[in-house]
Amino acid sequence: MQSRWSDDDARRFADEHRARWGEDLALRTYTSRLLGAEPALVLHGGGNTSVKGTVANAFGDEVPAIFVKASGRDMASIEPDGHPAVDLEYLLKLRALADLTDEAMTNELRTHLFDHRSPTPSLETLVHAFIPKKYVDHTHADAVLALTNQVGAANLVREALGENVIVVDSIAPGFLLAKAAAAAFEARPDGRGMVWMRHGIVTWGDTAREAYEAMIELVSRAEAFLKEKASRTLRVDVPTPIDTAVGRVARVAPIVRGLLTRRGDDAAPRRPVIVLPLVSAEALVFVDSKEGRALALTPPLTSDHLIRTRALPLWLGDADYDDPAKLRVQIATAVREYEEQYHAYVARHRSSVPDMPDAYDPSPRVLLMPGLGALAVGADAEAAAIARDIAEHTIAVKTAVAAMGGYLGLPERDLFKMEFRGFQQAKLRDVRAPLGGHVALVTGAAGAIGAGVCQKLLENGCHVAVTDLAGERLDRMTADLGARFGPRVAGVPLDVTDPTSVAEAFATVARTWGGIDLVVVNAGIGLVSSLAEMALEAFQKLERVNVDGTLTVLAEAGRHFAHQGSGGDIVLVSTKNVFAPGARFGAYSATKAAAHQLARIASLELADLDVRVNMVSPDAVFSHGAVKSGLWAEVGPDRMKARGLDEKGLEEYYRTRNLLKARVTAEHVANAVLFFATRQTPTTGATIPVDGGLPDATPR
Ligand SMILES: [Zn+2]
Repeated sequence: MQSRWSDDDARRFADEHRARWGEDLALRTYTSRLLGAEPALVLHGGGNTSVKGTVANAFGDEVPAIFVKASGRDMASIEPDGHPAVDLEYLLKLRALADLTDEAMTNELRTHLFDHRSPTPSLETLVHAFIPKKYVDHTHADAVLALTNQVGAANLVREALGENVIVVDSIAPGFLLAKAAAAAFEARPDGRGMVWMRHGIVTWGDTAREAYEAMIELVSRAEAFLKEKASRTLRVDVPTPIDTAVGRVARVAPIVRGLLTRRGDDAAPRRPVIVLPLVSAEALVFVDSKEGRALALTPPLTSDHLIRTRALPLWLGDADYDDPAKLRVQIATAVREYEEQYHAYVARHRSSVPDMPDAYDPSPRVLLMPGLGALAVGADAEAAAIARDIAEHTIAVKTAVAAMGGYLGLPERDLFKMEFRGFQQAKLRDVRAPLGGHVALVTGAAGAIGAGVCQKLLENGCHVAVTDLAGERLDRMTADLGARFGPRVAGVPLDVTDPTSVAEAFATVARTWGGIDLVVVNAGIGLVSSLAEMALEAFQKLERVNVDGTLTVLAEAGRHFAHQGSGGDIVLVSTKNVFAPGARFGAYSATKAAAHQLARIASLELADLDVRVNMVSPDAVFSHGAVKSGLWAEVGPDRMKARGLDEKGLEEYYRTRNLLKARVTAEHVANAVLFFATRQTPTTGATIPVDGGLPDATPR
């Protein structure tokens, strides 16, 4: 492992933050980010760092303080305010106590912050306070875990890292670990670092750089030692080719997703999950190897991972990828068995956790499958990515252990206590947006209504596959939405007139998030022409997009929902013209009427699958922000000419012709889509007009 320290970067960082936060905390933040940039040291919210200094109180007195990383904060992107300041002298007094529960400790930390708005400091704050060094760094480095999670670990650590590294036995994070670490430090004040069995490593220094470089040096030594001692590789007959495994993900992930989706009812909303694949050469060797199963079903590397991955993954050893019906039964059986075992695990240990909740989720977070790799599950893309990244590093560390010795993890009762302690569960507590965990596919997403629908769905927590013809418009829309909504946006090229393209787009989304819950059929084109003047080819072009395209997307959606098995929603963006057609607009009105009728048929055919199909019928949506409506680019000039109006005048004409005198926007259409997507009424085959009230166009 290479040091990422740069004098120039450190100076720039200090210059930027010195005035507000002081040099010490600025450099603390800089090296925390260097640690966070290395996934082999910490993942997502893992690890923690601190610096000791002073804070001026209301009297102007400089009071000793410790600035320690906030619980769950990601070091890779941490800012100076991610290290809240706590009263150091008070924290040091706590060491005299015999014990302190998590709740009591949290209370002590929160009531001794210098700023009442601060986030809660790390569960390991007292370790940082009790080690009397200015800078303290703590990580869960892969290479160190590969040493500590072995039979004979203490000797291996000393052999690998040298005698001046202090070894502390396995103790659950919290008050008692802090006391043990403090005592171990005092017995060896000349130590360069400290290793905690089956947990991680701590280093320190008088400067930010010294503590950081000590971490890099010790971890590098551990890496070199592992390399030198590796004498075996995992035994694999023929590893699965990556392409084969990737192809299987598109078929397997929706089945898993459907089985793990909580079906909604009046008491609780539907709650889908996101499923992310981990398909790599290393993962395939691991799951395909003779040792894979036994290694996979050992405890996690460190208790920090429990809330993300649970104590054990689900292992599915004999999946029949060529027989979808059998595969579904196999996965369903494996999930049921996993959940039964999880309930038994809770029953065995629940008395050891005083505030154990009655309700908990027993389903797996990581599935390991020979011939495929791993599937990671989370409440949204971010949570699933954390589980996937932990699974990836777990595979790497267990592979490294298998190369030289035997794996030894934490005992089950310790795992349970860590999984259900309030401090850890608090990291998971999320207020779910109405469409959290849902995945939508929107066609024609680069247009005005499509853009408005995508934005609305994303604002409500949905993951959205933004689809349209490949090209600059799609790329720009994806980039714009991606900048605001991050990993919940995926741009997927899709041509509704090409069944292969539609099938490939659905498969891409299945490989991206595991499946789809909502399909918004929005792609459509217009044509201005009287029937007498209409060229047949021009009419047929509209048929291809508006009718064939709708049929193709409805058909693919129906097959997908049947395969996933957890219901779904389809919303067709219809038009007021279906009910009140316009002169010189016959091609559009007729083809959209056909599309509308197809959607109604779909509502009849798919109801048994708990798939609801509904329509929204807007009138005269001109744009969404900077995105102009393609339809109005076609229709507008003709209508302006016919009525002798300019663009503004035409918008005003459409506004005043409806009962409510309302200007209809893409957001209004999106609100109607959202109403159906959130399943607020038991409704299918229905149409919501979004037109300000046009009596001739009211569906009946
Ligand atoms: Zn830790």
